[in-house]
Amino acid sequence: MINTPFRVCISPKFKEEKKYVFDVLFHHFYKIDNYQLEISDKYKEYEIHFNETRILVKDIFFKQIEGDTYLDEKYLPRDLSYVQSTEDRYKIPVLYGESTINKSNRHVEFSCDIIGTIFFFLSRWEEYISSDLDKHGRFKGENSFAVKNNIFRVPVVDIYADFLWRLFSDFTPTLKKDKTSVSLHPSHDIDFFVKWPNKLNYYKTQLGNLIKRSDKDLFLKDKKAYSVSNDDISKDPFFTYKLFMDDAESRNRQATFYFMVGGNTNYDNNYDINDENIAALLSEIKLRGHRIGLHPGYNASTTSNQLKKEIEIFKNVCGVDQVMIRQHFLKINLIETINIWEDAGVQYDSSFYYNNHPGFRAGCSVAFPLFNVTKHKKTNILEDSVSFMDTDLLGESSRIIKEVKEVYEATKYVGTNFKFLWHNSSFYGREWKPFHSVYSWMINDFDDDYLGNHNFLSGK
Ligand SMILES: [Zn+2]
Repeated sequence: MINTPFRVCISPKFKEEKKYVFDVLFHHFYKIDNYQLEISDKYKEYEIHFNETRILVKDIFFKQIEGDTYLDEKYLPRDLSYVQSTEDRYKIPVLYGESTINKSNRHVEFSCDIIGTIFFFLSRWEEYISSDLDKHGRFKGENSFAVKNNIFRVPVVDIYADFLWRLFSDFTPTLKKDKTSVSLHPSHDIDFFVKWPNKLNYYKTQLGNLIKRSDKDLFLKDKKAYSVSNDDISKDPFFTYKLFMDDAESRNRQATFYFMVGGNTNYDNNYDINDENIAALLSEIKLRGHRIGLHPGYNASTTSNQLKKEIEIFKNVCGVDQVMIRQHFLKINLIETINIWEDAGVQYDSSFYYNNHPGFRAGCSVAFPLFNVTKHKKTNILEDSVSFMDTDLLGESSRIIKEVKEVYEATKYVGTNFKFLWHNSSFYGREWKPFHSVYSWMINDFDDDYLGNHNFLSGK
């Protein structure tokens, strides 16, 4: 951490929200642990001072709010323009205010309210006011401003943070930072530990192959796979854990595995966390230096007691004090879930992702603290979103593959981690065959040599 004399001046209206944005900027982006904060009615706009440099950013968003809440459609951004810049690959989006920048000596005035905009992206308050939810009670990605306006595949908060930093570093060359290189963070949700936990399960599959699917080839394939895995669990088609660990280790990376411990719906309880094979695997994952997290059951994001119960079981089984979570089905409804997470003492989550939309749900590629908008306070929960999920490939695969490459390129540009989710079950079966090479391509830093014979980027 660097200690530098930054001074930030804000007005008192929604001061917790404003302070939150500056905390994220300084602590999580600039790695500066201290900055001075002055709160006074005399400041009509945001002011950031560093030595002789003064940056003035217009306060548009919070200034317009009547009353004590911004949870109202009338405060959503109306349209989108950009700051014109010839040198940058990604233009600066303007959601609140205008794109004008005036520079004179060491004074800069910026008419675009990037502080209110960063708050808009990180706090996800637009999700609190939407009643158009999907069948799992989730906010629909296509309703988000960023998806609708096609700025979703760029971590715009990173772009704003970088832009603001450069306004200072232009005047102070010692503040210049080298760009770091992109790195990969694979993670794996374990919905099913193995494909066939018992004989009955296997018979059910085969009955489906014969009657429902009338697929004799699949019947024979499953028969063969079952007979080898019957004696050796590591031969089960879903037992891909060693492959994930080998792949991560060969590139000096750490994988994260999210395990379920229970639940109270038909979507849960596909294995018993106390199974001796799972215990052996958990030990191996730890021994090899990878991470284990909790994949809470379907209802846990909306039922406080259920989440607390599962966290306790997980802590006992895994012998840990702190728990990282990612919700099953990525099922979150922030207005409820954020309180439930806080109540259960969650400190790390990785559930932010919109199905069918590779990209940045909070516009941010780095881990950041969540803000509870109904309580007007910063939480202790660190959100570390993924920007791609494998099951999206089963839909419009050509579009998804094109988009995931764009997401990767944008992540590379800001020099952070490309974080993706690949289930242990997403290799076996006809539907996954075309995408084996997508996994390899991804794990090998999108090196086009791994495309194999699948010309999937052109959609053929
Ligand atoms: Zn799941």
